[in-house]
Amino acid sequence: MARLVMKFGGTSVADIERIRNVARHVKREVEAGHEVAVVVSAMSGTTNKLVEWCREAAALHDAREYDAVVATGEQVTAGLLAIVLESMGINARSWQGWQLPIFTSNAHASARILDINGEELLKRFKERGEVAVISGFQGIHKDTGRVTTLGRGGSDTSAVAVAAAIRAERCDIYTDVDGVYTTDPRVVARARRLDKVAFEEMLELASLGAKVLQVRSVELGMVHNVRIFVRSSFDKPEDIDPHRNPPGTLICNEEEIVEQQVVTGIAFSKDEAQISVRRVQDKPGVAAAIFGPLAEASINVDMIVQNVSSDGKTTDLTFTVPAADYDRAKDTIEKAHKKIGYERLDGATEVAKVSVIGIGMRSHAGVAAEAFRALAERGINIRAITTSEIKFSLLIDAAFTELAVRTLHSLYGLDKA
Ligand code: ADP
Ligand code: ASP
Ligand code: MG
Repeated sequence: MARLVMKFGGTSVADIERIRNVARHVKREVEAGHEVAVVVSAMSGTTNKLVEWCREAAALHDAREYDAVVATGEQVTAGLLAIVLESMGINARSWQGWQLPIFTSNAHASARILDINGEELLKRFKERGEVAVISGFQGIHKDTGRVTTLGRGGSDTSAVAVAAAIRAERCDIYTDVDGVYTTDPRVVARARRLDKVAFEEMLELASLGAKVLQVRSVELGMVHNVRIFVRSSFDKPEDIDPHRNPPGTLICNEEEIVEQQVVTGIAFSKDEAQISVRRVQDKPGVAAAIFGPLAEASINVDMIVQNVSSDGKTTDLTFTVPAADYDRAKDTIEKAHKKIGYERLDGATEVAKVSVIGIGMRSHAGVAAEAFRALAERGINIRAITTSEIKFSLLIDAAFTELAVRTLHSLYGLDKA
């Protein structure tokens, strides 16, 4: 007997028929003798609709009310799944974030989970054999008692946090692909499924654009040592052989991975914007004058490139921010125009960041240089570069994203045979 968390994302619970399919997966595990907590997302499209309604109601709105609205999607699914499970003769009940409770910070719309009390669930597993169906994505702020949400994709994080709280053996993330691939399989048909990915690599993949897992879920898994297994909810429950490992990807410690490739995967994101500050004074304090106000405005600056000035007086400084913060960032720099002292501000939103990730890069030199050559041969211009120990990222024109990803995917030998 094991204790499991099973998480089902939006497309897996998109309609009642799919919820029935999910219930059959849950039944399979319950009948195998396991204690099960299920975490569900809102039905596919629901959260987008709720977000849109908030914007329509008022472009600028209170984040606490936004949370009150968008948290409802998950409440519906949890209730529906509990109803279906009960109708199949399985003892189950739904739990909202505030009922468990799942305590979070008060950073509305991107709250962090602080604490989950799993004792009541454990008691009910033992005494009643009751399946817990938990609304993902939502929690409650300890002091104010207000409903919070965890940021888009946050049900993954709810699931891993619940798994840590009830000391589950495994956290199964059921989704619409059967694992983590070398890159988004919807963009590159030749992407390969990975059997295992190290936490650190998954952190990079997720934070650089692979939305298959929310970044914070990976962080939590790493800290609490939760075994996260990504698998498909579209497999028929009846077809799964309980004695064989199902297809999927295990997110685990680096030591568990026997054959380490130099490059593990490629991620990309079109949610970037570029800002260039032209002809700024080349003197001490200028970077602080630019990035200080941006930090105060809570705008995350990612890539930074500063040219060497040819005349020793002025230089160009280029950086990227999340596309959603583009207007605010430009505004912030314009307001500080006098203090910074620059000639012109240029910006571009049609840019994309393509990132190559692999723990093997720690011990291999020249991995990035190969990419520069390959992209140059395709006529793809690189606007900015950043590197770290296990990854490098390139900023390019958004129109070339797919071509760049496919080129790099082949270059590093990731294409499936
Ligand atoms: P869910 O609704 O189940 O949470 P998501 O849409 O959030 O599912 O995440 C699954 C999607 O992530 C897949 O459909 C796939 O297009 C995308 N994806 C991006 N990068 C990868 C990758 N490297 N491996 C697998 N899926 C990826
Ligand atoms: N329903 C939320 C979203 O769409 C949370 C999730 O699906 O994980 O972002
Ligand atoms: Mg998701």
